Amino acid sequence: AKIHNRSRYTYFTRDLGVEIRERVRMMHALRAAFEKDRLFIVYQPQVNMRTGNTVGAEALLRWKTEEGDFVPPDQFIPIAEYSGLIVNIGEWVLRTACFEWATLSKHTDTNFKIAVNVSQAQFSHPLFLRSVERALADSGIPADCLELEITESMAMNDPDALIESIAKLKAIGVRVSIDDFGTGFSSLSHLQKLRVDKLKIDRSFVNQMIRVNNDASIARMIIELSQSLKIDIIAEGVETQAQAELLISFGCDYAQGFHYSKPQTKNDLIIWLTNS
Ligand code: C2E
Ligand code: CA
Ligand code: CA
Ligand code: CA
Repeated sequence: AKIHNRSRYTYFTRDLGVEIRERVRMMHALRAAFEKDRLFIVYQPQVNMRTGNTVGAEALLRWKTEEGDFVPPDQFIPIAEYSGLIVNIGEWVLRTACFEWATLSKHTDTNFKIAVNVSQAQFSHPLFLRSVERALADSGIPADCLELEITESMAMNDPDALIESIAKLKAIGVRVSIDDFGTGFSSLSHLQKLRVDKLKIDRSFVNQMIRVNNDASIARMIIELSQSLKIDIIAEGVETQAQAELLISFGCDYAQGFHYSKPQTKNDLIIWLTNS
């Protein structure tokens, strides 16, 4: 039994070593990719399901390696966060999206909004507010056309600091939304205090409405919650017409999802906007 345990232990440490080395390798590769401009942004339209109008788009980061492979954000964003690279990368996403707004908004008749994901480390950075102000001033995007997406779990760490940061952003006119809503643990009273502009229903609840076990109760509850708190609502991950219809019947008119469009490069989005 002793030998068996020892071999399992050795196996475990070797495995962990491989994992750490892989993470470090990826961190160096990510830094190099960022410096060599190998990161780029794609935009996923946000659509009014009733009218079909595109009202905005979410900026999503992409990394194409020199070998031509795409590394999924779910793999490299955690590494960017862990290494601190996210602060500079995130600022680049913010600025690029703000600058590209001018071109994108020319092709829509609405007051087109750009949504940008913001990580905890970025959001709690002392210079974040300044960098948002600078991005607005340098790019000329109207403040209320910029929407910053934070996640519900961020609210857990330091609720008072979060309330204050959101208040400051709202004071300069920027919109704030809660991403992946329903997956975190924020209480209702807390949600009310945050004063965010919008909730994004996590796609797991949209999926569950029809595909998984026909359970629409959570999506419906989140929509009702947004209505009673007078917060805007959008559903993520809408893949079918049936999901869209059910969401509309619950009072949610806005959606993002493959049923409408996958994330697209800026140029493809312009063509798509022109044709729709
Ligand atoms: P997210 O913010 O929840 O973004 C939505 C994700 O859902 C995107 O994945 C999008 O491609 C995917 N999606 C959209 N519609 C559908 C659908 O109908 N079905 C399915 N199955 N998926 C759909 P993506 O682009 O792989 O991004 C993954 C995550 O990486 C994002 O989740 C976000 O948390 C993070 N991320 C991406 N870009 C950035 C960034 O610039 N900064 C930060 N901090 N995080 C980012
Ligand atoms: Ca998001
Ligand atoms: Ca989300
Ligand atoms: Ca997510």
